[in-house]
Amino acid sequence: MAQTITDPTQAAAELAERFSRARRAVFFGGAGVSTASGIPDFRSADGLYHQHFAYPPEEMLSHGFFVSHTEEFYDFYRERMICLDARPNQAHRKLAELERDGRLAAVVTQNIDGLHQAAGSRVVHELHGSTHRNVCTRCGETYAAEWVMATDGVPRCEKCGGLVKPDVVLYGEQLDEHVLLASVRAISEADLLVIGGTSLVVYPAAGLVNYFQGEDLVIVNRDRTPQDDVADLVCACDIAAAFDF
Ligand code: ZN
Repeated sequence: MAQTITDPTQAAAELAERFSRARRAVFFGGAGVSTASGIPDFRSADGLYHQHFAYPPEEMLSHGFFVSHTEEFYDFYRERMICLDARPNQAHRKLAELERDGRLAAVVTQNIDGLHQAAGSRVVHELHGSTHRNVCTRCGETYAAEWVMATDGVPRCEKCGGLVKPDVVLYGEQLDEHVLLASVRAISEADLLVIGGTSLVVYPAAGLVNYFQGEDLVIVNRDRTPQDDVADLVCACDIAAAFDF
């Protein structure tokens, strides 16, 4: 049975201690890491998305919708998925610092906002891609999120006129095999795995955790997760506060 901590100060002290002992720590993060930076989780039912858009977000973020309603896809993508004003929070900053100090081997994230890199992290496996890379489907030219924001309607490649598609894994698309393999390798070689801001019910999060063979599994999440019972420590508190050490 896992030890559960609800006090953020105590959680931060425990995390500091565990990171100082670890030789190959890995952080696996979900939407909760980004919501602490003010980025809304489109899966959470706050009704926000239904104010301006005629379709549910899961449909607008599907491969089929991108193909059949490309302009409406980009309306949603520009307004809701690209968050250029968001800044890294304490969790992002601490993880970057731990990597610089040689205490963290990798970040594996389900988020697409690039905030780990903005905080200074270098080894970041982005399972669902990134809004900061948008790729011409014809010639492969890559465009930044700022470039997409400056376009109207369906963005076309400046070099060849081809359709530009976000390097984001849409519903109905496969995860990038190289990113997935790198994530599996990082997790399977880790001695400390800290999972944060994810309920661990959505593929591939739940499956990836099974590759962990280390001794110390920590979960930082406000709500209970299905893995709580196999964890060594559960920090049921705010993730930014838990990384304030
Ligand atoms: Zn092109």
